[in-house]
Amino acid sequence: MSVDGEGDDAHVADKMTPEQRSANMRAVRSKNTAPELAVRRLIHGLGYRYRLHRKNLPGRPDVVFGPKRKVIFVHGCFWHGHEDARCRGGGRPKSNVAFWDAKLTRNKERDAEREAALIALGWSVLTVWECETVEPLKLKERLVQFLEGRPDGDQSPMQKYRR
Ligand SMILES: [Zn+2]
Repeated sequence: MSVDGEGDDAHVADKMTPEQRSANMRAVRSKNTAPELAVRRLIHGLGYRYRLHRKNLPGRPDVVFGPKRKVIFVHGCFWHGHEDARCRGGGRPKSNVAFWDAKLTRNKERDAEREAALIALGWSVLTVWECETVEPLKLKERLVQFLEGRPDGDQSPMQKYRR
């Protein structure tokens, strides 16, 4: 959570339902979320070995394949602003519009910066979206494609947010 947004966060938190607040807390912690666990289960089932949240890498990627120099981020559609016509979770709130726009845009920029930093260090980055975990077969294919693909083949849609 960024320091500059804290006053606003407290203000908005007052208006949140308990569910929203706990979703907010989960997003802030952003480790071991349900979608992340689903992705890890799939990867484990495919027989790959990985490490979690390596602190010495930019953005502490959720899943790290050291020898392959590949990382996976599992992103919540709301907090990371999934832009996909089929995604129902990526929309922005209709109230407190300025606050949410600023906050969610900042999240996206941060994601893009982390990804760019990892790529600059020679890592390949895959972003898996929360909504993809409802189709495990399709997601499995995507994971295998990423993990078996060329080490320098970046397939992440986040690329378009690079500046
Ligand atoms: Zn989504």
